[in-house]
Amino acid sequence: MLQCCTICGRTISDRELHETLENHIIDAIGQEHPEWMESDGACARCVEHYRRILARRREPPIRRSTPWWRRLFPWL
Ligand SMILES: [Zn+2]
Repeated sequence: MLQCCTICGRTISDRELHETLENHIIDAIGQEHPEWMESDGACARCVEHYRRILARRREPPIRRSTPWWRRLFPWL
């Protein structure tokens, strides 16, 4: 049976549909797709996409302090 991924609109097979999702992924999808429900499931591609976003978010931000003069003289 073919189903449609509510998130990306792709037609997918049952096997591709993830029904067990981690809570943080459910939250992330819900933030961008309020109409989406957990019971709709998500395709492997979407799950992978959100997993990557969340992994990136968890990484500490790169702190690169810019010296004040760099903003005034960026060519230096
Ligand atoms: Zn999808």
